[in-house]
Amino acid sequence: MLKIDGISRRFGDVTALDDVSLEIGQGEFFALLGPSGCGKTTLLRIIAGFETPDAGKVTLDGEDLLSRPPNRRPISLMFQSYALFPHMTVAKNVAYGLEREKLPRQEIKQRVGEVLETVGLSAHAARRPAQLSGGQRQRVALARSIVKRPRLLLLDEPLSALDKKVRADMQLELKRLQHEVGITFVVVTHDQEEAMSLADRIAVFDRGTVRQVDEPISLYERPRSPFVADFVGANNLFSGEASGLDGIKSEKFGMLAGTPLEELEAGAGALLAVRPEKIELADASATRGLAGEVLDVSFYGGVSHISVDVPGHPKPVLVAVQGAASVRPGAKVKVRWDAEDAVIMAAGQ
Ligand code: ATP
Repeated sequence: MLKIDGISRRFGDVTALDDVSLEIGQGEFFALLGPSGCGKTTLLRIIAGFETPDAGKVTLDGEDLLSRPPNRRPISLMFQSYALFPHMTVAKNVAYGLEREKLPRQEIKQRVGEVLETVGLSAHAARRPAQLSGGQRQRVALARSIVKRPRLLLLDEPLSALDKKVRADMQLELKRLQHEVGITFVVVTHDQEEAMSLADRIAVFDRGTVRQVDEPISLYERPRSPFVADFVGANNLFSGEASGLDGIKSEKFGMLAGTPLEELEAGAGALLAVRPEKIELADASATRGLAGEVLDVSFYGGVSHISVDVPGHPKPVLVAVQGAASVRPGAKVKVRWDAEDAVIMAAGQ
């Protein structure tokens, strides 16, 4: 539905986007995820029409978007700051865009009523923004974005101004809403948990390029580059040389078991990534595993995080277990994992 084809944009000597191509389907909830400065907002602004690319094409249902001014694109953009009019009521804020389009009064009233119902704010229609909570203001901004029935809704860090609890509620709300209205959503975020919980598919950006486009679970379980492995969730990364189909050869530890995602030339630089929850803590006397000493144990309610100093490994190995941990700092242990739970990829990018 939305096709981004070879988009590049430079600002002086900064390359904000370098030949980015993506295809986003009708009704999809799609996330652009990456660290600050990787170019995701620039791409959103190009789609919306507030920025012009140096090269590339953007089409929506086969129609060229770039030649149209922002107000002639069937797109709404929702910013991080909600930009509500403080002196207008909730209903007026939502009606504003439709009034500008000079729709009949009755139709405006009906559509505003419907959309306030959808976001659960019917009872607050007569309030002003200052009389609302952060989460409610967020809903007004959403209502205002969808009341115009855009084909595409772009959201720039939509939840970053909310505190943690409200944010979790709004994540659920956004998902429900997207499902209900059936509009294609493209959200920009630097928060990988948010992207994973919201999106059907995620594009991971790194310095102006797309590293991987996948469903959340595949990004998590099958990262295809060290960047993605490190950026999406916590990972333990071990470096070594590619060696056959069942592991890497590490200078410090010998063979480390893992599963390569693609064929790597024997001897080539490789990285093995294993998630904290896939690591098992064994007794120091166990025959298999890397010997280490527990540095720290933190309990987070449902899970505990244990960091283990493994001599020869540059960072503590992070282990996650369900519930309370049975080890204490100072304990001698071995860390180990099953080959199918560790992913091997080419080192470098
Ligand atoms: P953030 O999450 O911090 O907003 P981002 O991933 O959205 O980051 P962009 O805002 O797209 O990143 O910026 C990408 C790069 O382009 C950055 O290095 C930024 O400084 C630069 N950049 C963006 N807009 C401009 C501009 N108008 N003029 C000059 N440089 C810009």
